[in-house]
Amino acid sequence: MVAPFQGGCACKAVRYEVSSEPVAFMLCHCRDCQYVSGGEPAAVVVVPKPAFRLTKGAVKSYSVKGDSGNAVTRQFCADCGTPLFSALEGNPGLWAIKAGSLDDPSWLKPTAFLWKSSAQPWAHLDPAIHAFDKQPM
Ligand SMILES: [Zn+2]
Ligand SMILES: [Zn+2]
Repeated sequence: MVAPFQGGCACKAVRYEVSSEPVAFMLCHCRDCQYVSGGEPAAVVVVPKPAFRLTKGAVKSYSVKGDSGNAVTRQFCADCGTPLFSALEGNPGLWAIKAGSLDDPSWLKPTAFLWKSSAQPWAHLDPAIHAFDKQPM
């Protein structure tokens, strides 16, 4: 058991806690995630939304239409810009957290790659992990 687990942004203005185990840990290669990650796939910890609680600070957000056609509202620290969370219009019961913001992301085990079709030619995809061409949900 790893829950509850905590995390926050780089400048510590935003902190959060999650009270349940993740549903999945996805590495998303969609073009939109490449902007948020800096080029690599976005490492996304998916948790049930009710298990998530913001414990300190406030976030800024913006919405984009994802490659799936659904809106994704991306939230980040207004002070340091660390990408933190995504609200998924297509999956309102879930909450997506950037793995790098966990206090300890080392225990995460990738469930799958998403959007292999958009991965850059120089991206490394571990053949041991299932890769979806787009996204399965
Ligand atoms: Zn910050
Ligand atoms: Zn993505």
